[in-house]
Amino acid sequence: MMNVYNSLSRRVEELKPLEGNTIRLYTCGPTVYNFAHIGNFRAYAFEDILRRVVQFNGMKIRQVMNLTDVDDKTIRGANAAGVALTDYTKTYKDAFFADLKKLNIQPAEVYPAATDHIPEMIALVQKLMEKGVAYQSEDGSVYFKVREFPGYGKLAHIDFDNQRTGLRCAADEYDKENVGDFALWKAWEESDGPVGWDSPWGRGRPGWHIECSAMSMKYLGETFDLHTGGIDNLFPHHENEIAQAEAATGKEFVRTWMHCAHLRVNGEKMSKSAGNFFTLRDLLEKGYTGREIRYVLINAHYRTGLNFAFSALEDARKALARIDACVAQATEGAAPDWAQKHLADFTAAVNDDLNIPSAFAALFALVRDANGKGAAGTLGVFKRMDEVLGVIFFENEKKAVEIPAEIQAMLDQRAEARKAKNWAESDRLRDAIAAAGWVVKDSKEGQSVSKK
Ligand code: AMP
Ligand code: ZN
Repeated sequence: MMNVYNSLSRRVEELKPLEGNTIRLYTCGPTVYNFAHIGNFRAYAFEDILRRVVQFNGMKIRQVMNLTDVDDKTIRGANAAGVALTDYTKTYKDAFFADLKKLNIQPAEVYPAATDHIPEMIALVQKLMEKGVAYQSEDGSVYFKVREFPGYGKLAHIDFDNQRTGLRCAADEYDKENVGDFALWKAWEESDGPVGWDSPWGRGRPGWHIECSAMSMKYLGETFDLHTGGIDNLFPHHENEIAQAEAATGKEFVRTWMHCAHLRVNGEKMSKSAGNFFTLRDLLEKGYTGREIRYVLINAHYRTGLNFAFSALEDARKALARIDACVAQATEGAAPDWAQKHLADFTAAVNDDLNIPSAFAALFALVRDANGKGAAGTLGVFKRMDEVLGVIFFENEKKAVEIPAEIQAMLDQRAEARKAKNWAESDRLRDAIAAAGWVVKDSKEGQSVSKK
C-alpha cells in the first residue's frame, strides 16, 4: 500500500488509481528560457522517485510534463537575442532532455509544448466566458473572476475576503497579498514583438496557468489522480489551475496534490532571479557525475528543505563507491532472510510518503550485512531497490559505459588472436588487461570485461 501526503487534504492517504491500474500524473515542467538549475531538478528528481515507486508497487504510470515555451521570460529572451521564439526555446528544450538523461530520470509519457496547444487553451477560455467566470478587460486581456469560483483558496488553505474582488493581476507570478482576478489571455503588447496568436479577443497569448489546465485535461482527462510541482507552484499556479478546470467542467480536477520543498543555498531558495544557482552543467564541469548529483537530490525527504553543499557531493561519491564495491561481489540466487528483511524495510520506507532517506538506510544495512556475511544471493535485492533509487551501477551497465579506449584496443586484439587460435597471445593480452585492473571472461557470446 503506497501512502503519500496530499497537500489538498493535508493528510497522508493511500494512492490508488481512480481508474484501472494506471496512475495519471501531471507534473509542471520547465520554462525553457535558460538551462534548468539543480533546484528545478530537485523537483523533477522527486517526481521521478514518485513514478518509480508507483511502478515498484505494480501500478502503471502515465505522466505528462509540459514545456512552457511561451511566457514573459521566453519572449523577452527571444526578442533580446533577435531570434524566433521557437528557435530560442529549442536550445533549452534539447538541453533539458539531455540533463534528464544524465540524472537517470525516467522520461514522461508525454511532453506537450504550450505553443502546440493554443487552440485547446482558447477553447477553455471560451468555456469560462460562457460560464460567466471570465471577462474581457478594457485592454483586451481576459481575466478569471475569482469571486465567481467559491472553491478559490482550497489548495492554499486561505479564505479570501470578497472585498478584494476589484483587484486584478496581470503577472503570471504573484504572492498571496496580491491575489485578485488573474489573466487567462493576455492582449498583444509592443514588447511581444512577433509573438502572438489570433483569438476571439484579438491578438495575444495565453496566461501561464491556463496552459497546464488545458494540457493536463487533454492528455489525462477532466479528473485525474495526481498533480505535482515544487512548493512555489502551489500558489497561485496550482490554485488557479483548479479554479480554471473545475469552473469549466463542474468536476473534481485532481484527487491528490504533492509538492516538494525547495533546494536552498545558504538558507535561500535556489533561483534564477536570486542568481544563487548552479546548473547541472556547472556541476558536471566541476567533475561531479550525474549519479552523484542524483544521489544528493533524492537523499532528503521531499517535503523538507535541502541545503545544497559541495561536501554532500563528496559524501555521495564515497557512499556510492561503498555500494559499488559491495554490488560487485553480489550474485544471483535466492536472497538470504536478512536481505529480504532489508528489502521489506526498504519497501515500507518508500511507501511511507516516499521516505528515501530511510530507504537508503535499508540499502546500507544490506551493504553492511552483505560485507559481513557474504553477498551471495543479494543481487536481486540490490536490483529491486535500484528500481526506485536509480543510482547503482551494475556490471553490465559498467561494460556499456566505461571501458577505456586502451582496454578496448587490447580486447579487440585479443578477439583477433583467439580467432587465429593464437592462445599464447590471447593469454598475454588477458594478463595485460588484468594488470590494467580489468578481468576478462570468455563465454559463447565472446569476451566480457569487468573492473577488478
Ligand atoms: P520553473 O521553470 O521556474 O517554472 O520551475 C520548474 C519546476 O522547478 C517547478 O516545479 C518549480 O516549483 C521547481 N523549482 C524551482 N526552483 C526550485 C528549487 N529551488 N527547489 C526545488 N524546486 C524548485
Ligand atoms: Zn503547471
